[in-house]
Amino acid sequence: MKLSTPVEKIPRIGPQYKKKLKKLGVKTVRDLLFHFPHRYEDFSTLTPVSNVKVGETVCIQGKILEIKNTITWKRRMAITEAIVKDDSGAIKVLWFNQPYLVDTLKPQDLVCLAGKVAMGKKSYSGIYLSSPAYEKISIEEKKALDLNKEKVKVPAKGRALIHTGGLIPVYPETEGLSSRWLRYILRPVLVQFKNKIEDPLPEIIKKENNLLPLNHALWQIHFPDSKELAQKARERFSFQELFFIQLNVLREKMKLKMEKAIPIPLNLKVIKSFVDSLPFKLTDAQRKSTWQILKDIEKPRPMNRLLEGDVGSGKTIVAIIAALNVAKAGYQTAFMAPTEILVNQHFKNLENILKGFKLKIGILTGHDYKVSQKKLTKNELLKKIKRGEVDILIGTHALIQKEVRFGKLALVILDEQHRFGVEQRAHLCRSVTKAKERRQQGNDLQTKLIPHLLSMTATPIPRTLALTLYGDLDLSLLDEMPKGRKKIITKVIPPKGREDVYAFIRNEVKKGKQIFVICPRIESTETTPNWSETKAVKKEYERLSKKVFPKLRMAMLHGKMKTKEKEEIMKKLKNKETDILVSTSVVEVGIDIPNATLMIIEGADKFGLSQLHQFRGRVGRGKDQSFCFLFTDFGGRKTRMRLKALLDSKTGFELAEKDLEIRGPGEVFGARQWGIPDLAMSSLTDVVLVEKTRAWAKKILEEDPYLKKYPLLADKLKKFGEIVHLE
Ligand code: ADP
Ligand code: MG
Repeated sequence: MKLSTPVEKIPRIGPQYKKKLKKLGVKTVRDLLFHFPHRYEDFSTLTPVSNVKVGETVCIQGKILEIKNTITWKRRMAITEAIVKDDSGAIKVLWFNQPYLVDTLKPQDLVCLAGKVAMGKKSYSGIYLSSPAYEKISIEEKKALDLNKEKVKVPAKGRALIHTGGLIPVYPETEGLSSRWLRYILRPVLVQFKNKIEDPLPEIIKKENNLLPLNHALWQIHFPDSKELAQKARERFSFQELFFIQLNVLREKMKLKMEKAIPIPLNLKVIKSFVDSLPFKLTDAQRKSTWQILKDIEKPRPMNRLLEGDVGSGKTIVAIIAALNVAKAGYQTAFMAPTEILVNQHFKNLENILKGFKLKIGILTGHDYKVSQKKLTKNELLKKIKRGEVDILIGTHALIQKEVRFGKLALVILDEQHRFGVEQRAHLCRSVTKAKERRQQGNDLQTKLIPHLLSMTATPIPRTLALTLYGDLDLSLLDEMPKGRKKIITKVIPPKGREDVYAFIRNEVKKGKQIFVICPRIESTETTPNWSETKAVKKEYERLSKKVFPKLRMAMLHGKMKTKEKEEIMKKLKNKETDILVSTSVVEVGIDIPNATLMIIEGADKFGLSQLHQFRGRVGRGKDQSFCFLFTDFGGRKTRMRLKALLDSKTGFELAEKDLEIRGPGEVFGARQWGIPDLAMSSLTDVVLVEKTRAWAKKILEEDPYLKKYPLLADKLKKFGEIVHLE
């Protein structure tokens, strides 16, 4: 058996279990060994039977005196009843619905049992141990235990018990895969690989950080001898995972520094005349970020910069200035946004705002091929792109299909970058890499160079994350809102306040303002009871337009509508021909309707915090006071905490920190999405560890950029790069 052996080759794992293990992300022996418990049940001390108390969870050892199955006549449940005796006394033990136990456990067997002590009523009166974990023990083990003492430490060294008597690993489970089964499968594998796995961490790092060696840590994280050792083992793996991320990110950054890009000269005259043409003054933050970007792309090395700014902080204009500068230097910009609605909005906005600058602006989505309002066939557009006749091409991820070849691409802009899946980001990576390969083969002149990359996001990145997952990016911050913006008044509305809200809506419409109503789903379903109360766009639109606001101009929007329909609806909204838009989350990001002042969110409990913040950011984009009213169907504690956080915090940054606190990094940043081990995810909030691992990664790379002295590390990194794609 090798580490790369598929799990189904392990004895006792059949196709059934293979499937279930796959759900946990466990495909090979290595995965299995690195599938860590998330907690331990402490059964390391034995309690004499005479000392057990109702309500306690205990571990006892003794001999089975009798064991038999009975059926309760009332509930038709099989009950296995046993009497277990140690030197201090005897206790009743009950297992429910596990009649097969009588085939495994026989009278006279010595057993170790761990479980909760309960007090029976009615037919089973008296004290009993309820459905405990069980394990047979040998005479030798029994001898090693001294039951005369009050509470005895179970000798841990070399113990053969794996379900009871000690710190018992509890694994993240999936249906039909119990921790008991995992322990049973894992133990022999662990024994087989004991001391045989090579440790990728350099000695010096282990020594100076007081980290356990790999094999020791691997054993201790599964079957720890003590809580301290379990903790140390965890520390070692957290360190290791973060260290790998850092190493990977820093090396990518280093590699990028060695690549070449097209230097774009700064055209101050054009930029100045563009900025002067705007109906507003740029904020200082916008100026500063613009300057950083323009300075970056002036260099012959590819820029890799993230522009981070809260919803409504004005990121688009910064990107436009960069694209304008690139266009005036005779090169192309690819401007990518996650939804068609957003792509259309950008296209119209750019056409409008860049009117006086004679640029060819194109659009490419699944259905739409245009340059400067002129409709083209896909092929015509592709040809134009290849010949460099489109200055700025705006599109969805259709932009990165391989048939789209830019003649003179110098800048890629990625709007709402967090909305692009890992797959798409990886694709972007790959297309850049392919360009590199072509260069090495010495053909295709223009693709020799790597484009500059500007990503944009409103999702604030906590410091630790900025140093890890995004560590290869340079950061520009829009930490200031355009002048004159007022804080959006946010309220959770109880059901009886609904009529008041509707009166409020009528009043806003009277003032010429526009309103969003967000519903969590498109259609209502009867099947899921929890959702039956939840508002659905279609039904709510019917109700509001017929019964509540028959005189107002209403529209509906959701993801299942045709592109043309969606476009038409957004156009009307922008032209103020619609008063109220009832929509799903399709308007979550990026949509810019400065005349909208009221955001109503139905079923607010169905959305995540940052999602709610994004919705709220759809209003308050003009000078008028704006409002966000939330209705919830469900008022659990977490929901209340989340909504309170939304009411209390003004900036997305504060909110992100709170979200991180409430939900933890795994959920907030989607561990799976990044393809990062859970352990590394949960360590991401540990600033000290993040900085320490970063410092070490730096040190190792500075001394040995190609990791020649550390072949294991180099190898690990290669594999790592294949699963985790960071841009
Ligand atoms: P986001 O950062 O959320 O992408 P946008 O770029 O869509 O924000 O900008 C939000 C709105 O603010 C737009 O209507 C835009 O025209 C406007 N805007 C941008 N910069 C300024 C500014 N300096 N002063 C006033 N309004 C601005
Ligand atoms: Mg935006």
